[in-house]
Amino acid sequence: MPAEIQIRYHRQARSIKLKADSAGRITVTAHPLTPKFLINRFIAQSQAWIDKHQRRGLKTLSAISLAKIQLFGQTYQRQLANPSDDHTPGIHILDQILIYVPANPLRSPEQHQIDLDRKLKDWLKRTCQTYISRRLIQLSQQMQVEYRTVSLKNLSSRWGSCSNRHNLNFNWHLVHFPPDVIDYVLVHELAHIVHANHSRQFWQLVAKHDSNYKRHKTELSKLAV
Ligand SMILES: [Zn+2]
Repeated sequence: MPAEIQIRYHRQARSIKLKADSAGRITVTAHPLTPKFLINRFIAQSQAWIDKHQRRGLKTLSAISLAKIQLFGQTYQRQLANPSDDHTPGIHILDQILIYVPANPLRSPEQHQIDLDRKLKDWLKRTCQTYISRRLIQLSQQMQVEYRTVSLKNLSSRWGSCSNRHNLNFNWHLVHFPPDVIDYVLVHELAHIVHANHSRQFWQLVAKHDSNYKRHKTELSKLAV
């Protein structure tokens, strides 16, 4: 989240003051002799006020609303925002909004739609990779099974797979689903390390670690991504 704050020194300044403009840019005004630590302390104490104004500013920015996106089961509004001192290039999540700030000022909406689609895909893949690798460590410990490697692929018709060498693959589109549904897919593939089939014992193991697996399985087949 962008958090740069501009500091301006004025000889006439009698105290440290905070100001926010309509784009959410924050300026601190102080006398040139004010020690830096006092300014920093003032900024730290005003963090709630700063956050509120930065959020409000980002919302009012001339952002082009593109579409909505599902992330871990939550709906986010996709938006584009112009880069500025306070809005660093990249993808930011703010409340229910996913904001993309391109490295260069907006040229045409069409151009940035293409740019965003590409960047967003990479970002979603990275987000999914980080999430799944961390969650797999927890679930494999809980299930007491060991896997070799984990990778994310664009598996066209599958959510996950487990090779006979115990290498796990997952579809990065899982990032759109709620955490409990993602858990089901991870538990399912980890269970294949023990049972390389869909036997009764396999489903018993799945059920032991995901008691709602039937519901999760249905949800997975219903949601189109
Ligand atoms: Zn299976």
